[in-house]
Amino acid sequence: MSRFLNSKLFRYLSVFLFLNFTTPQIKSSSDLAAWVLKENGVLELRTKSNTNLKAYFQKANQKYGDRFWIDFPGELISPRTIKGNGPVKEIRLGKPNSGRTRLVIEFKDGTFLNALTWKMIGLDQNRWRIKLFTPKDSFKKIGEGSVDKKIINNNSNQNSSYVDNSFYDYMQLPNVTRNKFSVVIDPGHGGLDPGAIGIGGIRETDVVLEVSKKVKELLSEKGVKVSLTRENEVNLDLRPRVSFANNLNADIFVSIHANASRGKRKDINGLETFYFKGWRGRLLAKRIQKHILIVSPGSPDRGVKQGKFYVIKNTDMPAVLVEIGFLTGRLDSRRLEKNTHRERIAYAIAKGILEYLSKIE
Ligand SMILES: [Zn+2]
Repeated sequence: MSRFLNSKLFRYLSVFLFLNFTTPQIKSSSDLAAWVLKENGVLELRTKSNTNLKAYFQKANQKYGDRFWIDFPGELISPRTIKGNGPVKEIRLGKPNSGRTRLVIEFKDGTFLNALTWKMIGLDQNRWRIKLFTPKDSFKKIGEGSVDKKIINNNSNQNSSYVDNSFYDYMQLPNVTRNKFSVVIDPGHGGLDPGAIGIGGIRETDVVLEVSKKVKELLSEKGVKVSLTRENEVNLDLRPRVSFANNLNADIFVSIHANASRGKRKDINGLETFYFKGWRGRLLAKRIQKHILIVSPGSPDRGVKQGKFYVIKNTDMPAVLVEIGFLTGRLDSRRLEKNTHRERIAYAIAKGILEYLSKIE
């Protein structure tokens, strides 16, 4: 990911979405099927499956208050305006140009919106959520249609192995006893060894370092002591990674990598998690694998396997090596270059780790 995409300014101007699946070029009706802005300030959407959304935020100007809007493929039949309440001035459904639908939420003056922290989350193939504000006083929900209705999508080729799980509780990470566990996260490669180089030059070392840092942040919030084998782009041999973990007497060791296929085949995608031996390592691998698959719909499950990688073979504690996708694969690389997906992978790994820790405590 380029520095430009990472910059806060950029994120401030437009809150970008992930899950860019193939979208047919010609759309007849709007991809937006239902929406609701709930009492807690969370906007939920139901769309056609695998749609391509774009979301934007713009600060108030002379004409408008702060606005958040999302563009959907497909033309809206009847543009309309819905009166708001609380901090919401009004909600408009319009067609910015033919063949597109725009959902605009305009806020009243003086509403404090922390757009920097906004994150659109894909709950599954056709549902989305984003927390826009925390109501100071009461806010009455506004919406059209049912966002919960399931769509059975038969013509989705990319998502055949999609795990049909709800993400509603996904951001909820399990609790474990605080200050009890110590975890070593090992971002693969680094420095002169960039690891796999994928489509468009995406580098494994960058992806896994970012994911690892986020995992650390999430676990730390839960009172888990986390140590990274490297915090930046340094060359680090395998042996010191292992002795680092062994000296710390950590409870678990998780090495994070991204894959490359021989011949850089774009059709090879998927996720896999390795352990060396023991039921603990296997359990940890299974938990992590389960959750990374959930946030990577359509990417093949290459399974939980035994592996003899140096770092998992020589560490004293249960140890796994997770491959979060193929940087050479079209589907995986397109996702892994996005910040939002990296964050979701980090959530998934943290969730797997916390589930494991809560099982063994
Ligand atoms: Zn690697």
